[in-house]
Amino acid sequence: MEVCRTVGEVRAAVRRHRERGAKIGFVPTMGYFHEGHLSLMRRARAECGAVVVSIFVNPLQFGPREDLAEYPRDLERDLRMAREVGVDVVFTPADEEMYPPGYCTYVEVLGLTEKLCGLSRPGHFRGVTTVVAKLFNIVQPDVAYFGQKDAQQAVVIQRMVRDLNMPLEVVVLPTVREADGLAMSSRNVYLSPEERQAALVIPRSLARAVEAVKGGERNVAVLREMVRGMIAAEPRAQIDYVEIYGWPDLEPLTVLTDRALLAVAVRFGRARLIDNVVLEV
Ligand code: AMP
Repeated sequence: MEVCRTVGEVRAAVRRHRERGAKIGFVPTMGYFHEGHLSLMRRARAECGAVVVSIFVNPLQFGPREDLAEYPRDLERDLRMAREVGVDVVFTPADEEMYPPGYCTYVEVLGLTEKLCGLSRPGHFRGVTTVVAKLFNIVQPDVAYFGQKDAQQAVVIQRMVRDLNMPLEVVVLPTVREADGLAMSSRNVYLSPEERQAALVIPRSLARAVEAVKGGERNVAVLREMVRGMIAAEPRAQIDYVEIYGWPDLEPLTVLTDRALLAVAVRFGRARLIDNVVLEV
């Protein structure tokens, strides 16, 4: 496994794989790997001749009062895990490699980013689309893999790729959960044991909504309030949002007809957790 620090190094590494005819699969991450990340790498490994993973905690997607400084990092452990999965190339650039002095170009997707996490984290998606566009230009993958855990991010990236005619396929894979249902996240390390237990209200409330839809409930406001009420009843939970939008267009809905995204963001102590489920009629 090659570990590259500069754009020049990773370009040269990818070129060697392409020259031997390999399809290039790419998994962009912020590191501190868990099974969610590994599931994307394994799929890339199964589908592509070469697997490239980036590890970059992108300062541009963090707000001024967010957790950039304390975001968990362990490069040695990440490299070990990537090697075990059979990753070929890891790109882990310094901030200045991605944003040298004088940097002033940004990529913005409108509309889709003006709700959910886009409201609670102003500038977040501009940071995400800018860094992912840069990474796509640097690596030039044939396929890029993302997790449904970050559902809004996945549709925003798919739209960017379509709108800017980027020559790659975007694959979105299911959310990987702990045995008790909590969605895996690098940020779960922020949770105290009590908060970790309390956070189970998230998967439970999503499951309750799925059951209600199975039982015939179609009223979006009723479903939303049911989930909101369940989470609000947990004293350690501070709701950021509980919303239902059409999936995958994220258009507002009053009645479930086809597929809808039930998405939540909830704080437990200093951890802001997001999770979602696609409700299907
Ligand atoms: P991150 O390092 O948190 O930016 O995540 C990197 C990629 O892994 C993104 O495409 C995420 O959507 C995906 N991911 C994060 N957590 C999970 C999970 N629990 N299940 C599946 N994919 C995930």
